[in-house]
Amino acid sequence: MKLFLFDIDGTILRTHNVGRHALEDALAEVVGRPLPTAGVSFSGKTDPQILREILESHGLEEETHDGDFERILDAYMNHMRSVLTPERFELLPGVAELIPRLASMPDVRLGLLTGNVKPMAYFKLEAVGLAQYFPFGAFGSDHAERRRLPALAVERARALTGRTFTGKDVVIIGDTEHDIDCGRGIGACSVGVCTGRFSCEELAAHHPDLLLPDLSDPAPLLALID
Ligand SMILES: [Mg+2]
Repeated sequence: MKLFLFDIDGTILRTHNVGRHALEDALAEVVGRPLPTAGVSFSGKTDPQILREILESHGLEEETHDGDFERILDAYMNHMRSVLTPERFELLPGVAELIPRLASMPDVRLGLLTGNVKPMAYFKLEAVGLAQYFPFGAFGSDHAERRRLPALAVERARALTGRTFTGKDVVIIGDTEHDIDCGRGIGACSVGVCTGRFSCEELAAHHPDLLLPDLSDPAPLLALID
């Protein structure tokens, strides 16, 4: 049996910089002045990590407290809810067919491994009609460091299914080097998909077990299932 853990942004869907603008609005609202985020890459990072890097880039990490952090993330969620109307989501090629197909297979369990905080993850997936396929996951709200998330997702899969997934039975699918890298600690199978900000050439340099231009051909993923 395989456990497939999917990243969201750049892997399942795209929101075309709406997240960056919403986070800038949230920062301005809570901090009281605009904090440009242009110098900080969001790709493959957890929301708390992105927020910390932005605050550090403005020299604000010392004067920011946990309460501010929570307030900014709450404001971010509110801005996202108001600006992310369904037509602003782009579902990436093949995903609408692949996810239900994998979910219907008896030898497969599906979960999330995403830097989004949990409410944001399910808000996005509900908007594209895929939330019901992902009963559990590990999220940016669990830990700011993505490398800590695979073990957590595996533990949640065990709690839900009674099965312990190890090594290459865990398949981590994502669009950045951080997705490829994060599962090394548990010996997971990494699948890079080139539908985010990085080309296949760039992702190949990080040596994923499998590299796919997009998810429109399910065959390479289905071949991983025993
Ligand atoms: Mg991503």
